[in-house]
Amino acid sequence: MAEKACRKCMRIIVTPDASRRKSKKGEAAVDEKPPVCELCNSSDLSDEWSGLLIILDPKKSEISQKVGAEIPGNYALRVR
Ligand SMILES: [Zn+2]
Repeated sequence: MAEKACRKCMRIIVTPDASRRKSKKGEAAVDEKPPVCELCNSSDLSDEWSGLLIILDPKKSEISQKVGAEIPGNYALRVR
């Protein structure tokens, strides 16, 4: 598994590892779509991010309001 960060909303997206696609026969065509952000649907994802921010309760978290996170989950603090 590889983790990418959305450049628009900073969400961390876990993408399937490309090398694992070959392991099972007959499944090659299933997973050919490029990964997109599960929140904003953007395909503008970056491998180069740092600072994992785990948001459990966005309404109570000041930092989640700073990054604009409204949904609990994992976010990057910096995305290049
Ligand atoms: Zn996004």
